[in-house]
Amino acid sequence: MTVRAALGHNPWLVRPLPGRGELIAGITLHSTRSGNASDDEYDDGPGTERWGMHPDNGSAAQGWGTFWDRLIWRDGTRLICTDVDREFASWTAGFGNVGPPTAWALGHYYVQIELSQSRPDQPFSDASIEELAKETGELSRRYDFPIVRIPFVTQQENPKPRGITTHEGSANGVKLGKSDPGDLFPWATFIEKAQAYKSEGDPMSEDKIRSTILDWSQSDDFGEAVIAAISTRGFKTTTERLNYAIVIRERVDAAIARLMQAGSSTELADVETTLAAINTVLDGLANRETP
Ligand SMILES: [Zn+2]
Repeated sequence: MTVRAALGHNPWLVRPLPGRGELIAGITLHSTRSGNASDDEYDDGPGTERWGMHPDNGSAAQGWGTFWDRLIWRDGTRLICTDVDREFASWTAGFGNVGPPTAWALGHYYVQIELSQSRPDQPFSDASIEELAKETGELSRRYDFPIVRIPFVTQQENPKPRGITTHEGSANGVKLGKSDPGDLFPWATFIEKAQAYKSEGDPMSEDKIRSTILDWSQSDDFGEAVIAAISTRGFKTTTERLNYAIVIRERVDAAIARLMQAGSSTELADVETTLAAINTVLDGLANRETP
């Protein structure tokens, strides 16, 4: 199934929050609820993605509009819309009736996930629940929260409860009269699948980094060279090697661009870090000796 970055968003819809990755306590489930459904198969996903780029969605003067960290379409397309480690969406869900410093904002501490559902009575698609379970499994590994339903958050708890919250089950949702994701959300299926995806793999091992680089490099020669560049920091630089390193660098850059495009949520940051390290090594190599 397609996992990719969102096509874009109004600049005021995403704000920096350095260190957010350390704050993450779980996820919040939402449904899109545009009300546009003409039939049960109507997919709210594409229109919701466009809403993120629509000039009427908030304003720079206001400093916010409606946005989300992840958007999952009815057909299972999964969009990565913020960098959860350092940004938040302003807003999917903020405060309840009480503001700071007594209360905290839902959208700071929980990854905000929108599921395609146009009306409260539209059934969720199997494909969207499957992708939600994958995303949840990945996020719960990365941010170390349990896959358990939290019925309600007053948004005044400290520490923040770790697990799965919902918009309807939050002070913010009550304030705004929200009912998402609602009665049709298949809790038992979702929890079971998400737990299965969570236990499927551990955080990226060296073997996995290696196989990932080989996969993305599209050629074993390139992949092996990149891996060698990581492990062999002080190797003797020859012209041939240096030229090769420069070629590799361009391809590493291209690989990063492809990665950003693909936007695999959990592993993206790990691989980005790895590739950034490769780039640093190769930069050093390119600067040290000139042919
Ligand atoms: Zn919501």
